[in-house]
Amino acid sequence: MKLQHIGIAVKNIKERLKIWRDVLGLHFEMIEDVPQQKVRVAVLDIGGLKIELLEALEEGSTIATFIEKKGEGLHHLCLEVEDIEDMLLKLKQQGVKLIDEVPREGASGKKIAFIHPRDMGGVLIELTQK
Ligand code: ZN
Repeated sequence: MKLQHIGIAVKNIKERLKIWRDVLGLHFEMIEDVPQQKVRVAVLDIGGLKIELLEALEEGSTIATFIEKKGEGLHHLCLEVEDIEDMLLKLKQQGVKLIDEVPREGASGKKIAFIHPRDMGGVLIELTQK
């Protein structure tokens, strides 16, 4: 297992890229709209770890609501696991509160699932499969 990426909720990806990419010099990988999640995602690479900048595509979407409540900031950590279904089952058996009991499709067609922050120290955790 590894920390695959860190998701950061931002109001405006273009503005934030000026710092993350142009000033800090992180390698820019791609920008993509994920309409199912009503989010625009920019991916930057920092030594194999990715930084995801997340901008809401619509009012009332998850990212828009997050920014409204908390402002821009750390949104989630993503852990890459060998077998996402197996991990979800294990978590469920332990009574961990899940947002997704079955994986859904994330950016680039990868299988992803979210674990509710309640049992995770207040941090939203995304699981992705290798
Ligand atoms: Zn993510």
